[in-house]
Amino acid sequence: MSDIINNLNIILRRMEVACRDSGRDPNEVKLLLATKTVPADRIKVALEAGQTLIAENKVQEIKEKYESLQLVPHTSHFIGHLQSNKIKDILKYNITCIQSLDRLDVAEKLQQRLEYENRKIEVLIQVNTSGEQSKFGTHPDQAVNLVREVAQFKNIEIKGLMTIGLFSAETEKVRPCFQLLKSIQQEVLAQNIAGVSMQELSMGMSGDLETAIQEGATIVRVGTAIFGQRIYADSYYWDETKA
Ligand SMILES: *Cc1c(COP(=O)(O)O)cnc(C)c1O
Repeated sequence: MSDIINNLNIILRRMEVACRDSGRDPNEVKLLLATKTVPADRIKVALEAGQTLIAENKVQEIKEKYESLQLVPHTSHFIGHLQSNKIKDILKYNITCIQSLDRLDVAEKLQQRLEYENRKIEVLIQVNTSGEQSKFGTHPDQAVNLVREVAQFKNIEIKGLMTIGLFSAETEKVRPCFQLLKSIQQEVLAQNIAGVSMQELSMGMSGDLETAIQEGATIVRVGTAIFGQRIYADSYYWDETKA
């Protein structure tokens, strides 16, 4: 378990250096722990070490770990593919933000359910900035429109944008993805849409968090670099045909 603490310290240090190098205040950038496939007792180690923000990709995993994590204070986001038939379940588990809203019809279903439960939820609009077929997210050209449409739903509070960049070891190939998300943020801001906040830019993972911070990330989502390699390929979570 001490590997987790060590890894956490390395990540926090990397974030700090990236902020310093790009002239940003480290308090502007939050660390989100991507906990898919990680057992609750390992997640607890990170929470007890002072981390507060975690996120899962699948409802089944949220459900399995929910009870054991209740004893440690934390905030939960959802970063998996959001499907209409899972909305009701996701809302059972005290998720404060869904980072992966990418379709109007799903937003509509979400609004209906929230209205029924008489509550609100925060969302980020997920954008596919890499152009890869296997990645979820709205097309960059459609993003501003989607924000405007979702903004009409009174129980859904838009807080910003999320992207999974190009999966590449070459950071200079990933950078344009993050720049694209930033430019969409600026476009949305220029339109001054009522009720829409563009405060959060959720981008950057284990391999590319420095690049993301340089390009304006406010949330970096880190799994592997803290908890170790997963046994499932990421395509298990990201590929439409397997989700
Ligand atoms: C798994 C996952 C991450 C974390 O990826 P790592 O490479 O393990 O750091 C970030 N975002 C999403 C949406 C994920 O599914």
